[in-house]
Amino acid sequence: MPTRAVAGPVSSTDFRIMTIRSNLSSAVGNTPLLRLNHASSLTGCEVLAKAEFLNPGGSIKDRTALGLLLDAEQRGLIRPGGTIVEGTAGNTGIGLALIGASRGYRTVIFMPDTQSREKIDALRIAGADVRLIPAVPFSNPQHYVHVARAHAGQLNEAKPGSAWFANQFDNTANRDWHENTTGPEIWDQTHGKIDGFVCSAGTGGTLAGIGRALKARNPHVKIALSDPTGSALAHFITHGELLAEGNSISEGIGSSRITENFKDAPIDLAWSIPDQESVPLLHQLLRDEGWCVGGSSGVNIAGAIRLARELGPGHTVVTVLADAGTRYQAKLFNPALLHEKAIPVPDWLEHAFPG
Ligand code: PMP
Repeated sequence: MPTRAVAGPVSSTDFRIMTIRSNLSSAVGNTPLLRLNHASSLTGCEVLAKAEFLNPGGSIKDRTALGLLLDAEQRGLIRPGGTIVEGTAGNTGIGLALIGASRGYRTVIFMPDTQSREKIDALRIAGADVRLIPAVPFSNPQHYVHVARAHAGQLNEAKPGSAWFANQFDNTANRDWHENTTGPEIWDQTHGKIDGFVCSAGTGGTLAGIGRALKARNPHVKIALSDPTGSALAHFITHGELLAEGNSISEGIGSSRITENFKDAPIDLAWSIPDQESVPLLHQLLRDEGWCVGGSSGVNIAGAIRLARELGPGHTVVTVLADAGTRYQAKLFNPALLHEKAIPVPDWLEHAFPG
């Protein structure tokens, strides 16, 4: 008699799902790959997505947090009982706070005051010391990333070796972790039958890491960037110049500069995606397929549809669903705010929140 009954083929990934995780860190990653049925039938392609919202802290940034932290521990940059300091749009902070707590660290998070209430609350519940900073351009010394770096410096001056600045934007341990985990997972889960990968970029760690992992296994896999309006990255890829137009309701993605993590991303194609295209796709996904995902996932699905159309029917395209829509309920599912931004509101949502 077999000791366990499993439906379908058992890959190394399936086997890991069968094992007991004895701490939070070992529960990060190995997420399911989902078929997006509407996007697939629309394009005649297999459109698949990594369900990163199923990570313990609720986003793909748990992977980044774990990768950065393990690298720092290995290099002796953080000591037991030490303090993690980071500048983040929220999700990396949630990952750092939860994983940090489980490994015996305190966490101080600096974040722009434009981010969703739900993420700020999640950070506080996770035990982070949250400092909200007015949103200013990166060139301003008061930008949240510079303030976080300076704070870590002050803590280390007062008590040498007491703090570690995670530096997710320019610490390439971020990209390397995706190259060594998320990318190979996608390759294994598709059995190497993948023609294109697309996602948006904040730090660029996800896109660069997965892109490099897939290109190393098959240089013909097309890697694409789906960039929200208001970000300068798509224009940089297509025209070689950082230029941004418009804005976006999405959070955690887009950039006005080329980070160390983004720098070596092997990108073949790039598009600037307006909210009017991306938000209806995440409303559709929730209503028809039951997956409740955030704004960056909408941008990623829009990118996946564009990439699938570019490649033509019969191809397989993969993207990521970075976090859950519950993290942005007051924005993405708020008819009044959507009307204000000229984003289409489906009837069911209008009826759910009349007036
Ligand atoms: N989606 C969401 C919701 C995020 O929080 C982030 C990271 N800020 C990203 C996508 C982008 O990931 P990366 O930083 O790896 O480019």
